[in-house]
Amino acid sequence: MVVLGGGVVGTALAAALAERGVRDITVVDLDLAGIYASSELNAGGARATWWQPVNIETCRLTLDFFREHRAELGFRQRGYLWLYDDEQLFARAIQKRELQNRAGLGVELLEPSAIPSLFPIVDRSLEELVGATWSPRDGLVNPNAVRSYYRRRAEARGVRFRNRDFVMGVRTERVSGAAGSLRRIAALEVVRIRHGRPGDESGVLREILTTHRVPAEAREEEERIDCELVVNCLGAWSPIFSAKVGIHDVSEPVRRQIALVGVHREDLAPGVELENLGMVVDPSGLYFHPDGAYLLAGYSIPEEPPGFDFSYDGEDFFQNEIWPRLAAHCSSFERCGHVRGWAGLYAVTPDRSGIAGPVAGFSNLFEAHSFTGRGVMQSYGISRAMAALIDSGRFEEVDLAPLARERFEDPARWVREDLHI
Ligand SMILES: Cc1cc2nc3c(=O)[nH]c(=O)nc-3n(C[C@H](O)[C@H](O)[C@H](O)COP(=O)(O)OP(=O)(O)OC[C@H]3O[C@@H](n4cnc5c(N)ncnc54)[C@H](O)[C@@H]3O)c2cc1C
Repeated sequence: MVVLGGGVVGTALAAALAERGVRDITVVDLDLAGIYASSELNAGGARATWWQPVNIETCRLTLDFFREHRAELGFRQRGYLWLYDDEQLFARAIQKRELQNRAGLGVELLEPSAIPSLFPIVDRSLEELVGATWSPRDGLVNPNAVRSYYRRRAEARGVRFRNRDFVMGVRTERVSGAAGSLRRIAALEVVRIRHGRPGDESGVLREILTTHRVPAEAREEEERIDCELVVNCLGAWSPIFSAKVGIHDVSEPVRRQIALVGVHREDLAPGVELENLGMVVDPSGLYFHPDGAYLLAGYSIPEEPPGFDFSYDGEDFFQNEIWPRLAAHCSSFERCGHVRGWAGLYAVTPDRSGIAGPVAGFSNLFEAHSFTGRGVMQSYGISRAMAALIDSGRFEEVDLAPLARERFEDPARWVREDLHI
């Protein structure tokens, strides 16, 4: 069995399959260090408070796992504070809270006037707010630690990880069986990438991952990997693979940026302690949480065009998108400064929910990808359910049927997740 992509999703799935006793699993990735993998470039937010049951359930399972292994995974249960300035949106949040609390999430509603006494960081323009939700069981996790932990569990059960192998092509063949004529993936065509000079390495990887071509000087050797079963866990690159087997993915890669922000201790308003703060989401969708000596702040620019773009807008991003939003509700951030930042890719679907399940028309192809801004916090739940499907033919623990790719043929079946950031 070959799992394509050694990001957090592919690695979690390999571990889950191996833990069920599945043998002979190989994970193939161009770069297991993940320099451009979303799994290494994200914000480390972990919440189960979503508006769609399948997203709630998969994240709830994952957060339980994070809680159980909190020391290894750097999980800090510090909650999410979500601010609202729109009556209609807040009314939906109140309505969805019933669903969330039936799943045991313990989400609380806050009046604007109650916010500063509980969260002194929010002390400005309270009259613009209509309310907030506080979900104390959510929190923050170290995403790199999560991926490494899944990998250790997988390797301990014999999973092989192949690094610097780029999947260029796919050989398919027709098979006929009880379900009629199907196709199967017979083999993958893999190009082994030469180790670049140290300073040049990321340039080569970036070129391959943004153009999907391997420069002649980077090629080392080509190989055919025969496969019994293939799982596409290529994240934002999944559509490239799908196109190679003749199917169209509706998801698109979209750049998302994160800034690290410096805050002077003497600028903090009375009563504010950043150390114990969890994630705060402001009404515009800006999110922030403390990250070591800094504040990590992200904002998804709505008009960002799709593309494999890893450029970071630097000071412009901070000045135009981050600082004005940070300072709008928090006087402590009036004089904060830009430190550095980065960009990574969201794999965005039209309904903002991921794609998981068997790929129709194929006898041996499965997929789990396009988890927008949710892949880390969904990783354990998705991997457990997918491993059961692959191993036993049906989902266990959580039913991922709503995430089948076929749903996009009928907008009534879309899993519209509106609580995304
Ligand atoms: C700025 C930002 C903030 C985010 N914040 C959060 C957050 O707070 N919480 C959260 O849960 N999620 C967050 N996310 C989303 C989360 O990071 C992703 O959903 C998740 O990492 C996806 O994991 P993956 O394994 O599917 O993909 P990836 O981690 O991208 O892994 C895909 C792998 O495929 C490999 N690959 C691609 N093409 C090929 C090929 N042809 N051959 C071989 N290998 C190939 C790549 O090298 C890569 O390692 C954020 C994402 C970004 C960008």
